[in-house]
Amino acid sequence: MDFKLTEEHIMIRDAARDFAKSELLPGVIERDEKQEFPKEQVKKMGELGFLGMMASPEYGGGGMDTVSYVLAMEEISKIDASASVVMSVNNSLVCWGLETFGSAEQKQKYLSKLTTGEALGAFCLSEPEAGSDATSQKTTAIDQGDHYILNGTKNWITNGNSADFYIVIAQTHREKKHKGINAFIVEKDWEGFEVGPKENKLGIRGSDTHSLNFNDVKVPKENRIGEDGFGFKFAMKTLSGGRIGIAAQALGIASGAYELAKNYSKQRKAFGTEICNHQAIAFKLADMHTNIEAARHLVMKAAWDKDNGNNYDLSGAMAKLFASKTAMEVTVEAVQVHGGNGYVKEYHVERLMRDAKITQIYEGTSEIQKIVISRSVLHD
Ligand SMILES: Cc1cc2nc3c(=O)[nH]c(=O)nc-3n(C[C@H](O)[C@H](O)[C@H](O)COP(=O)(O)OP(=O)(O)OC[C@H]3O[C@@H](n4cnc5c(N)ncnc54)[C@H](O)[C@@H]3O)c2cc1C
Repeated sequence: MDFKLTEEHIMIRDAARDFAKSELLPGVIERDEKQEFPKEQVKKMGELGFLGMMASPEYGGGGMDTVSYVLAMEEISKIDASASVVMSVNNSLVCWGLETFGSAEQKQKYLSKLTTGEALGAFCLSEPEAGSDATSQKTTAIDQGDHYILNGTKNWITNGNSADFYIVIAQTHREKKHKGINAFIVEKDWEGFEVGPKENKLGIRGSDTHSLNFNDVKVPKENRIGEDGFGFKFAMKTLSGGRIGIAAQALGIASGAYELAKNYSKQRKAFGTEICNHQAIAFKLADMHTNIEAARHLVMKAAWDKDNGNNYDLSGAMAKLFASKTAMEVTVEAVQVHGGNGYVKEYHVERLMRDAKITQIYEGTSEIQKIVISRSVLHD
């Protein structure tokens, strides 16, 4: 067993770290406050290859492994989780889903633009009445011979307004339940497609989350991903890998907050000494560090499983469950270590605490991860 990163991994991690410090840190507080999408920064992420890291070079991707991707996700998330969710959706849901299950024509037409940042993608599964219970899709795609007619509403869609291409899940054969669901690629400027208002969120406020409306949108048949009825399987397979990215996001949020708390505790004095010399604070740091290391091992194991062709449903779910819990606990403690300063924006930890919460909700809530994990261990 070798816990050492390769030179290439270290290079990628350091490049992401440098980018986050130089390009994302300036303005991160203001973007959070104004709910401003990091447009310029995302463009640069595309130019640097952070938006299509695992996609094959044939389609403009970096051809990197999942370990590289999670290392970069962690570094970006330490500084700006709004930017890292854009990265996560584009890499693990949109690019991966298209490359793995899309047709040659779809990859040529869409993937090569998505990997470079020329275009941005969104993944549209959730609906007002279909979140955890994703089989209850109300959006319909009616087969009209050479095209489908799409009608319905999607909720909470990341990159909702910023995306150019949308992967949309919809019900084609209601009687077949989840086996009647399809996934389609929809372009933003198609007639009948409308972006709803932006959500005013607790955290990851720089990312744009919108509802989307589809009113008789004509989708050519060649834009269906996979065989007729493959859509639900497509969504579940894609989300299974996506969870590794969100676990890495949670890990990054936790380690960002921990580093801030550790540094602060070495500078802030109370009762004649630096606060890290009070055991209550030192023990908090010990717990934070231990849990972050445990989360890192779970995240890396899931990434390694994916890279080695192993099933990663279980390891990905465990990584997301534990890393997101750790992100919540560590960020709350990081605020505590900062005392009153933790409660104001300049010190960053209150934002990280708000950002942490979403990692327990999207791409499968913690309760859903426990369902995945318990089913897997009970039927082993
Ligand atoms: C900021 C943000 C960004 C998002 N981005 C996207 C996106 O890009 N694309 C997309 O498709 N979706 C996106 N989502 C939606 C997200 O994936 C859903 O919110 C999530 O899956 C939960 O669904 P729900 O909100 O309908 O909650 P519900 O399913 O209504 O769940 C409510 C509560 O009940 C629990 N629960 C539900 N069923 C069970 C069960 N069987 N057993 C135990 N507990 C259960 C849940 O865990 C939760 O605690 C986003 C959401 C947010 C807030």
